[in-house]
Amino acid sequence: MTFKELKIIDPILRALSDQGYSNPTPIQSQSIPILLGGKDLLGCAQTGTGKTAAFAIPILQQLYVNRQQHKGKRLIKALVVTPTRELAIQIGESFTAYGKYTNIRNTVIYGGVKQGTQTQMLQKGIDILVATPGRLLDLIGQGFISLKQVRYVVLDEADHMLDMGFIHDIRRIIALLPEKRQSLFFSATMPPDIIKLSGKILGNPAKVSINPKQTTAERVEQSVYFVNKKSKPKLLVHLLKEGQPDSVLIFSRTKYGADKIVRFLGKAELKAEAIHGNKSQNARQRALKNFKNGQTSILVATDIAARGIDVEDISYVINFDLPNIPETYVHRIGRTGRASASGVALSFCDMEERPFLKDIQKLIGEEIIVVEDHPFLADNDKATPKSAKPQRVPRKTKKPEDNSGSKSRQDRNKFYSRKRR
Ligand code: AMP
Repeated sequence: MTFKELKIIDPILRALSDQGYSNPTPIQSQSIPILLGGKDLLGCAQTGTGKTAAFAIPILQQLYVNRQQHKGKRLIKALVVTPTRELAIQIGESFTAYGKYTNIRNTVIYGGVKQGTQTQMLQKGIDILVATPGRLLDLIGQGFISLKQVRYVVLDEADHMLDMGFIHDIRRIIALLPEKRQSLFFSATMPPDIIKLSGKILGNPAKVSINPKQTTAERVEQSVYFVNKKSKPKLLVHLLKEGQPDSVLIFSRTKYGADKIVRFLGKAELKAEAIHGNKSQNARQRALKNFKNGQTSILVATDIAARGIDVEDISYVINFDLPNIPETYVHRIGRTGRASASGVALSFCDMEERPFLKDIQKLIGEEIIVVEDHPFLADNDKATPKSAKPQRVPRKTKKPEDNSGSKSRQDRNKFYSRKRR
């Protein structure tokens, strides 16, 4: 399947080729024909599957095909609502990249920063608005935004919007949308409250589901290190110093924990930066930029701040803490192995976290390889008789695709195999 076969128009095909996309990902090949056909869509897919392009390409194409000569200011014709600032910025960047030969203009608005630059852009006139819910309602209230001309609306990462308490905001936004529109609703999980919410916005949608279980298991090589809580910092320093991977995203359950990780890595002369909700928007953007351009190779993030971090080629995701919600684990490790590339995820697990590991393994439907050969193996495991020790399980994940030319891939394999001797 090619983008051309999906009937994508030339200006967008050229932009996709500039991005280096040769073939659509599964969610793209399934969603694009539905959306170009004008139907509503309920998509069960997580970040990392190519979901953004799955909705951005057909929206750009329909806006381009139906464009009219501009007589006055451009009016907002497409709205994307997404939970976090980082995700909003990345979606805006995707629209800009895929639409670079279409003359379709987008802007991004989010809270936590002064509104001046955002309202200036809005006043110039835009075609596509990407927004977080709070700032969107705020600027609607101040009269900077009208949704009357919106024909395409996307609710992205709906489950996280609900987790973050945006339900009332979302209901208010839905109430402001024109009746005649095409609606798209994406969520990584589909619990009953999400299905109910989707029913409020969608009319008889087509459904597309990209199973996160499969994408995770297939794309990411996962392993777990049993370690006492107090030895986690030493294990982390040990792994980073030994492996020297190009880019590592470390997850911490708390903001305080994230800052602590940065501090002890600093003491070990490993430069890291943290992003979490207590940092200013500018500090978060700066840290993300440094990470993207390779100035910092270690980024420490909390789950919410990491939503939507889209950095090509993250060598490793390290779970310094295991999340107590198994779906969060799937989201975290989806930060490595983006789109069709494979990645590596290492998790530290102390005694208290063992039940979380069990839940995670149940969700992903496989046992995660246990790495026993490291200097900080938890005391309990050292004392355990051999037969009762956690068994290494054969790797069920696919072998990495042929990336032999990639330096980071080689480093990554070196790092990984050393750990697993
Ligand atoms: P998303 O799920 O939208 O966050 O996308 C995940 C990553 O996949 C991003 O880095 C995209 O640039 C990349 N991507 C999206 N579509 C394709 C494609 N068809 N081919 C290669 N990479 C893609």
